[in-house]
Amino acid sequence: MTLIIQKYGGTSVGSTERIKNVARRIARFRARGQQIVVVVSAMSGETNRLIALAKEFQAHPDPRELDVMVSTGEQVSVALLSMALMDLGVKAKSYTGAQVRILTNNAYTKARILKIDEDKIRADLDAGYVVVVAGFQGVDESGSITTLGRGGSDTTGVALAAALKAEECQIYTDVDGIYTTDPRIVPEARKLKTITFEEMLEMASLGSKVLQIRSVEFAGKYKVRLRVLSSFNEEGEGTLITFEEGENMEHAIISGIAFNRDEAKITVLGVPDRPGIAYQILGPVADANIDVDMIIQNVGHDGMTDFSFTIHRNEFARTVDILKNQVQPHIGARGVMGGDRIAKVSVVGVGMRSHVGIASRMFRALAEEGINIQMISTSEIKISVVVDEKYMELAVRVLHKVFDLDQVS
Ligand code: ADP
Ligand code: ASP
Ligand code: MG
Repeated sequence: MTLIIQKYGGTSVGSTERIKNVARRIARFRARGQQIVVVVSAMSGETNRLIALAKEFQAHPDPRELDVMVSTGEQVSVALLSMALMDLGVKAKSYTGAQVRILTNNAYTKARILKIDEDKIRADLDAGYVVVVAGFQGVDESGSITTLGRGGSDTTGVALAAALKAEECQIYTDVDGIYTTDPRIVPEARKLKTITFEEMLEMASLGSKVLQIRSVEFAGKYKVRLRVLSSFNEEGEGTLITFEEGENMEHAIISGIAFNRDEAKITVLGVPDRPGIAYQILGPVADANIDVDMIIQNVGHDGMTDFSFTIHRNEFARTVDILKNQVQPHIGARGVMGGDRIAKVSVVGVGMRSHVGIASRMFRALAEEGINIQMISTSEIKISVVVDEKYMELAVRVLHKVFDLDQVS
């Protein structure tokens, strides 16, 4: 008997009726003799509601307590889905992350999965149960509840697929696959039949929230067959993440466009232009466990330069604080300036490797729309630019058109 993992996102379990729908769908798979482990998210809006509630008590909620609290969203969903399955005559049993024992490190609110105990799940599957596991959560060595970062249920799904050596991990969501870009921004976006693992990794890391980046990393590391499909639509094969470039028959130069509004930009002004300065600025930031994304050091003149970088918006205040208090007085910089009204727009594609002129086509298209580029970063298979947030959607639409992503290739 084959085993599949099915993960249902927040919108897919967003109401009583939708949970019942998901249960009926699972019952049909079960009737075909399939073994199934289901991972569910909190009902849509619930995680946001819980975070907002916590913020009424602490401006920056204590991370351990926050995890105890937000993990309840998924705990409710697994119990409700199990009840719905039982009501249809399907044997079902729910587990929280701690009950399975999804062991994580203790980095509350962004914990990493270290190990999954499979024994209980295997025994239940053998006894004919559908096992329903709460996404997004685990437990650390000391028994404290942890969560895996926003969108973390995807990672629970793929990690379970890896641990249980499932045939496939199916991510059911409110779109019927991976598109050339977010179809909410560009209605002409096209659904992809396949996308390479490398491209998906870039898309996720550059802001496409359809899959949490760590779930894609897990799929790559353990070669999990991963597919994204619609939970509303019975038809369709969704999008398969492939490991061979040759499997991607679409051969587009650019496969997709990702964007991210979650970053902020900081500039340290009037920095002495001398060796070690980048380290003196970014060292204290790294010590505070803050990830830095793009970095630009401008050409110096008169022995001085400006140094800019981007970080997650949530870390903006903390980073400015560190720079003003620990860095500026130390290196004698003129000032610290920053803003969070920026967005990063990226074009991604393995086909870029063998084509020149992609960057100039991109920059020209943006220039023709009068969109100023503030920062640029490239790799073999992506080009990212930082632009003013107010031009983000326009930039995505223009690039989607310029690279013919709306045309069937
Ligand atoms: P879930 O609650 O099921 O986890 P998410 O909201 O996390 O769902 O992810 C699905 C959403 O991802 C879609 O509704 C869509 O707006 C967005 N999205 C962003 N980029 C893409 C893309 N390239 N293809 C498909 N969906 C995308
Ligand atoms: N409920 C969590 C979130 O909203 C996890 C998830 O949906 O994947 O981020
Ligand atoms: Mg999600």
